[in-house]
Amino acid sequence: MPLVSGLDVINDCTSRGLVAGAFNTTNIETTMGIIAAVERTNVPTFIQVAPTNVALSGYEYIYDMVSRRLADTNVPVALHLDHGKTLESVEGALAAEFTSIMIDASEEPYEENLRISQIARELTPGSLALEAELGSIGGKEDDHGPEQELSTNPSQVADFVGAVRPDMLAVSVGNVHGFAPDARIDFDLLAQVRDASAVPLVIHGGSGLPVEQLGRLSEFNVVKVNVASDLRNAMIKTFGEAYVANPNEVSLIRVSKDAVAAITDVVERRIHMLNPRIS
Ligand SMILES: [Zn+2]
Repeated sequence: MPLVSGLDVINDCTSRGLVAGAFNTTNIETTMGIIAAVERTNVPTFIQVAPTNVALSGYEYIYDMVSRRLADTNVPVALHLDHGKTLESVEGALAAEFTSIMIDASEEPYEENLRISQIARELTPGSLALEAELGSIGGKEDDHGPEQELSTNPSQVADFVGAVRPDMLAVSVGNVHGFAPDARIDFDLLAQVRDASAVPLVIHGGSGLPVEQLGRLSEFNVVKVNVASDLRNAMIKTFGEAYVANPNEVSLIRVSKDAVAAITDVVERRIHMLNPRIS
């Protein structure tokens, strides 16, 4: 089926009590691995790419690759701009027909975050989903490197959501980007944010969180959880192990297929961790 709007993924998941994974792609192998897992689990999903990755491939290439690969599937998938830090990146993704957009001005002071996010709302058609971020998620992965961490202030949430009118809100409640084995969700804070937000929430940093925490997020109106580092490591590890096993290895196809299988396993496991009630 064609790409669907991010709104369809949000609505489908909230009505069925599901949490959508949001998996970052970079190349065809990652895309194939993600979509194979989506087909196995039948859970609506976001496939996403950050502007730094676009420097490698361009928005149009990502759109063509993902939409072509999805043609034979029956599971709703949206193509999402991850961490659009500038309005130019929002415009670039929209021009390439992405179906879901994140504006991330969370490192700016509150009023500036509000102003930039409002412009992104004006740029993004109401038929597409918009994610904004309040509070700043710490940690570092290759796509973005802010070291600053600032928890979401629950007292700002209602005002921000009311003024920006995003369709989902990324929050900083103990989650950290990248491999962060000590990261833990502060569920008391998450509950305060949930109670103040008129829209569902997004948790970034899904690779670092323990299984038992991932399985509770649906109780807190979380609709989307971002996972990137796990997938990338699965691919790099596959190639690294193949080279160590045989420095003269030249079967790129075989190793690439192994990488697709490794990524599929990671994505499938994450979807089940997020949705422990599905079989
Ligand atoms: Zn993120």
